[in-house]
Amino acid sequence: MRRTTRYQYRRRKKRSQSLLKAGIPVLAVVLIVVTVLVIKGGKKIPSGPSDVSSISSSVTVSSISSEPVSSEIVPGPTSSELEEQRLFQERYDRAKNVLLANFTHPNYKDPDDLVYLKDVLGKKYKINASYFQLSHDTAYALKEMLDAASEDGITTYIINSAYRDRKQQQSFWDNRLAKDPTYGDDVYANPVKTVPATASEHCTGLAIDILCESVPHGTSDYKDTKEAKWLAENAWKYGFILRYPEDSTHITGVMFEPWHYRYVGKDVAKDIHESGLCLEAYLESLGLPPEAANDETTAP
Ligand SMILES: [Zn+2]
Repeated sequence: MRRTTRYQYRRRKKRSQSLLKAGIPVLAVVLIVVTVLVIKGGKKIPSGPSDVSSISSSVTVSSISSEPVSSEIVPGPTSSELEEQRLFQERYDRAKNVLLANFTHPNYKDPDDLVYLKDVLGKKYKINASYFQLSHDTAYALKEMLDAASEDGITTYIINSAYRDRKQQQSFWDNRLAKDPTYGDDVYANPVKTVPATASEHCTGLAIDILCESVPHGTSDYKDTKEAKWLAENAWKYGFILRYPEDSTHITGVMFEPWHYRYVGKDVAKDIHESGLCLEAYLESLGLPPEAANDETTAP
């Protein structure tokens, strides 16, 4: 750079000296110098248009490349995708009103359509207490299920528990905590058997504990009885789901209870049965329940 500058300076100096020798006026020298500068500057001009052309060409390229996108025919959903969307919507509509009562979705609503089980079931089926009640539809669905089991030769069920009022359920929880203050500290790591009233399905009138003559209490060996196996296989047909499955205790927060069945209606029970999910996971797969739904609908 320095060499070039020095070289140009020498050349310019040499040229000036020769012009002076030739007797040309200073003004002419200035004019020549200006002309030279203009020509030198002019050399840069070609780079201008080339830049412009590169810009315009890039604009052209981008506009060309964007054209096919806008005019491209975007393929619509395939028929199988449309069918999947339709099925999802159907499942969503069926499940959106299913009550979820658990540790994260406390329920404060009491059922207003309780009926006595003895009135619905008569004397054909064994009920542990004559005061047992269930919500109307749940009671009749239970009768339909027990009738079907009878037709399959199973007549030894015992209804061990049904609706429990809030006060009773809460006393179970409080008594449990009195014995062990850490009980229920982390139900997802250490699932519980007793829950507070707000998390209890028995307070909704939609759940039953159904055992049998050979295993009349809620113990783990019940799951191996023919009665428990029949329920596990068939309960969904009558609108019931096994509410606390063995592989979902980390989601439900409740221990595996092969005797606890929850009424959700036949369509939803079928959907849940086919999904293989517990109620929480199934509802979540549909984006349910909507945020704070329980707060709005069940707050005291
Ligand atoms: Zn139960």
